[in-house]
Formats: sequence, C-alpha cells, structure tokens
Amino acid sequence: MSVAMGNNRIQQVNWEDELYREIIMDHYANPRHVGDVANADITVHGVNPLCGDDLKLSASVRAGSLKDLKIHTKGCSISQASSSIMAEALYGKTLAEAQTLVSQFKAMMLEGKPASSLPPPLADAQALEGVKDYPVRIKCALLAWNSALQGLTEFARKKSKISTSVTEKTEDDVYGKQ
Ligand code: ZN
Repeated sequence: MSVAMGNNRIQQVNWEDELYREIIMDHYANPRHVGDVANADITVHGVNPLCGDDLKLSASVRAGSLKDLKIHTKGCSISQASSSIMAEALYGKTLAEAQTLVSQFKAMMLEGKPASSLPPPLADAQALEGVKDYPVRIKCALLAWNSALQGLTEFARKKSKISTSVTEKTEDDVYGKQ
C-alpha cells in the first residue's frame, strides 16, 4: 500500500512493521505488571551489561501456575518493552506452559523460527522479531525471557530439594534426630 508521508523518499509503508513498532512503543510507554510480588517464590535479578539493562522479576506460584508475576526494568526501550510483553505472556500460565513460551520466543530470536508460528499468548512478542536484524540488541530483547527461564529453573530445583528434605525427615523419624 502506498501512502503519502510528507516525505517523498518514503513511498511505501510496511504496515506490519508499523503495527509492530506501535506494539513495542505501547508496552514501553505502558508497561504491564510493574512492581514487586510480596512473599515471592521466584526472584531474579537479570542484567545485560552490554547495554546497561537491569531487571528484577518476582513471581508467586500456586498450584503449579504463576499466580502473580511482576517486573521492574531499567534500560533501553527494547528491554523494557520485551519485559512487559514477557510478563503479560507468562502471567497466570502453568510453569510448564511458561517454560514452553520462553523456548518458543527464543527459537524465534535465535533459531529463525518465523514469528507467524508463535502461539496466541505470544502475539505481541511477534513484534520483537525485527530486533533480530540488530544483533547487538538481541540480548536486550532476551533479558526478560532468560530471566524468567532462570527463575523457573531455580524454582524447579528448589522444589526438588524440598522433596529431598522431606525424604530426609522420614529418615530422621526412623533413626531418631541427633
Ligand atoms: Zn538494551
């Protein structure tokens, strides 16, 4: 579609790019799920030293789902928009779903999986596909997702330790506490 832009050099507007830019700017200007979760089960401090992006993620888990998820991100517009998009996508999901969504996003950014193949919860995340063309910014876009993955992995590890300590308690019951 051709559009007059008041600048003769711009004769074609790629509407998909324009829509994606608007989605990114909207998340940047109105970030979702900003704050801290009280008594969080998951806390992650993520940094991208290349750009100076800094993120704090906290989440509570109930019945295997991310009941609440909040973030504080300081940094460039890409890292902030991506954080908001991630928080919205993962909020309320089961831990397994959240992990899958992160993997699917990373596959788009790192393995060339087309944005159009992402599932509905990642509709807004498609807007970040263009960041792939700027390798130095990929870490900005990935920071929130890698931080979420770290949090999910640490939570799973902690949980398996708790079940191990339950086993130890049973042994204490058998042999008596020292
Ligand atoms: Zn950045």
